[in-house]
Amino acid sequence: MTKFASGAATDVGQVRQVNQDNVLIADDVFAVADGMGGHRGGEVASLVAVEALQESFHERTTDALVDAVQSANAAIVERAKGDPELRGMGTTMCALARVTLDDGEECLTIVNVGDSRAYLLKAGEQELFQISEDHSLVQTLVRQGQLTQAEAAVHPQRNILTRALGIDQKVLPDSFDLLPVKGDRYLLCSDGLFNEVEETRIAEVLLTLTDPQAACEELVRLANEGGGRDNISVVVVDITDDAGHHTMLEARSDEHRVVQIVHGTDRAAEQVRAATVAAGAAGTAAATGPGANGSGPGGSTVIIEAPVIPGPPGAAAAPPATAPPGPVPVVASNKSTFTWRVALFLLLFVGVFAVAAFAINWMGTNSYYVGIDNSEVVIFQGRPGGFLWYQPKVEQRTQIAESAVPAEFQADVAKGKTEPSLQEAVAYVARMRAGIPTTAPPTTGTSLPAAGGTSTTAVPEAVAGNILGGAVSGGPVSTLPVSSTTTTTKP
Ligand code: MG
Repeated sequence: MTKFASGAATDVGQVRQVNQDNVLIADDVFAVADGMGGHRGGEVASLVAVEALQESFHERTTDALVDAVQSANAAIVERAKGDPELRGMGTTMCALARVTLDDGEECLTIVNVGDSRAYLLKAGEQELFQISEDHSLVQTLVRQGQLTQAEAAVHPQRNILTRALGIDQKVLPDSFDLLPVKGDRYLLCSDGLFNEVEETRIAEVLLTLTDPQAACEELVRLANEGGGRDNISVVVVDITDDAGHHTMLEARSDEHRVVQIVHGTDRAAEQVRAATVAAGAAGTAAATGPGANGSGPGGSTVIIEAPVIPGPPGAAAAPPATAPPGPVPVVASNKSTFTWRVALFLLLFVGVFAVAAFAINWMGTNSYYVGIDNSEVVIFQGRPGGFLWYQPKVEQRTQIAESAVPAEFQADVAKGKTEPSLQEAVAYVARMRAGIPTTAPPTTGTSLPAAGGTSTTAVPEAVAGNILGGAVSGGPVSTLPVSSTTTTTKP
């Protein structure tokens, strides 16, 4: 069985008032958590994270360690719900544990969320190898070729994370399975170490001090010496027995001990794909979901750690800040599905839409105006010039020639005299007709009665019916002379 020797140290540093980091050292699981969030949120988040990790890591497998990190995430989210002062708190998590793979092989697994790091100093070698990949804005820009690692190391926005525990209901941890090799030394640390101490100097300490606890304390001392502008946490894990893996490794010539790397985005996409298949749904679109190549930020939220405290005068000039990439949507499984809130929203939406449609229809059709069509006065249904997609249509023709319109009516009729109802429009036409002199020219082909005068037998049935018939029954026009005159003289 793989065996360990370990040490740990955590320190508030030289500037901050509170240590928001927490570390975990148990029999076969180790972790560093770097909390963030105003007031006391950060220290609570990192503590809840390491406690939840230890409590929920039972079955010694890679998936179980990933699940334990998910449980830690859920525990932070739940804790924040009950205390407004803790809202928005979060933490990084970098954990190492002994696990057993599906084939029965004993392995080490490192699970990472955020920008705390796991390094490996291989037995007999001098150089540190960074295992974990930072979930930070600058690391995303490095992957995209917009920044070099050296520029990222001093970038003013290097504290912006793209993933952290406690921010969303689900989180996407990366996992790294590695062969344990006797003599290898692993280092877990928060950014308070590697932002203050060069990696080459860290390697020197790890090579020099064989006692893991002494190495941890020396690294913390160096970080404080370098400025101590952040909290500093260090865990050193030595592989003291590898159960024969050393020989296996030589046979495999596996340079970095890496058996398997699974990015959180890939794992989430695979879970969605499996769920889709299980549900019998056609297609596997989810398998090609966002971040399937594992290179994207892979989180739905950008999290900002406590601001980076500026370095001493003369420190390397930071490159210009680059706008963070847009949030990358997480796969659908990260989002809650149909809820009563969604139903209520849809209901309201449909209701508002129906009311708006009714109002538009009413506005478009429930009004009349008197205007001109083909040089003839007519009553239109609708509004002058139309309303949205409702165009006015001729409701009644009057047989009054445009040229016969009395002067006092001409301006209104020219632009369209709006009336609230058909009856009112008919009444308006009757008043107009009353103002037409008996010598007014008739419209083409039709002889109309002189307004206010004695009707003639030339009034056509259709004209009488349109203007003076049922349309005015009971309306104001019935009291007008033109109405009574014409009606009484109808044949
Ligand atoms: Mg930190």
